[in-house]
Amino acid sequence: MLHILRLSIPNVYLLTGERAILIDAGGPRDVLRILEFLKELGIEKGKLSLILCTHGHWDHAGGATQLKAATGAPIAVHRADADKVRRGDNGILKPANLAGYFVLPLLNLGYPAFEPDVLIDDEIDLSSYGVAARIVFTPGHTLGSVSVLSADGAKIVGDLLMGGWLGGWLFPTWPGLHYAADDLDQIYASVRKVLALGPNVIHPGRGTVVRVLLPRVEGPTAFPAPQPDLRQRARGTGTILVVDDEPMVRKFLRHFLKACGFTVMEAEDGVVAVEYLTDPTKEVRAILLDLTMPRMDGLEALRKIRRDRPDVPILIMSGFSEPETSGRFAGLNASGFLQKPFTTAQLTEYLRFLLPADS
Ligand SMILES: [Zn+2]
Repeated sequence: MLHILRLSIPNVYLLTGERAILIDAGGPRDVLRILEFLKELGIEKGKLSLILCTHGHWDHAGGATQLKAATGAPIAVHRADADKVRRGDNGILKPANLAGYFVLPLLNLGYPAFEPDVLIDDEIDLSSYGVAARIVFTPGHTLGSVSVLSADGAKIVGDLLMGGWLGGWLFPTWPGLHYAADDLDQIYASVRKVLALGPNVIHPGRGTVVRVLLPRVEGPTAFPAPQPDLRQRARGTGTILVVDDEPMVRKFLRHFLKACGFTVMEAEDGVVAVEYLTDPTKEVRAILLDLTMPRMDGLEALRKIRRDRPDVPILIMSGFSEPETSGRFAGLNASGFLQKPFTTAQLTEYLRFLLPADS
């Protein structure tokens, strides 16, 4: 059974069975609250079989030394994050997005260093620790980040994802990137890996439970190849311009469209897209246009693009539903609307509709 303790910054999870494992140790100042949480749940000394740090950051490993002293439980960390915990610092935090530049300096604190008792290399079956779950290697946020998949389908992903975008400010029901990312490519691959592991109830290291994930895959699909039948159905050539401020969405689309045979150009907002399209030598067969973007949003971009490119198919993508948004597009001749999160199958059907000559 999964118990959740929401602390001021991170979430801490307790997974119980015959025994119990603590997933993440909070920061040094969270220790008393975590010990109370264990006591409330009747976890006495000896019943806690493991303190698992999903990664070596201050707010996930910072309380581990004191918790081990109090409970006697060994501490597990992935081998690739062992240096962080041996030093008791985060290492260099790389911002994943603009918000990261502002937030990360506040999170970059040291903590009591420790030598891990268990070094994780890849997967560990946790049944020997008395819980029906396993540890899955999901690097990216740090090079040694891991997640836990319980037998009943809960996924505790540490800082692989964070509830909401821009710290939950936008799209609170959407999963977003944490402020820090050591390797965005790895994060993306790890998200795909987690998604492929069955039903998706995701418990992030910050924010609330996330039930839906952006462009989801149908069934277990190994990153990076899209399903061959979809790739075949969406097969086409020429350039598709993807306009979206979210790097993960652009990356997902680039990856899928390239696999389908298209050339992909990317723009991070409307300004970049409009500028690109004013050059008449740039041939574009279709445009996938996000609605909510900084600087110039999709609505304004659509209006401007239509002056130069009256005929190119433009597919609007948005987290808002079509009825909420379609009124705003009246008269602007958008070619279709795709509500986020969408699947590769839905995207395929739209591509066939927009570019019938290829199918
Ligand atoms: Zn972290």
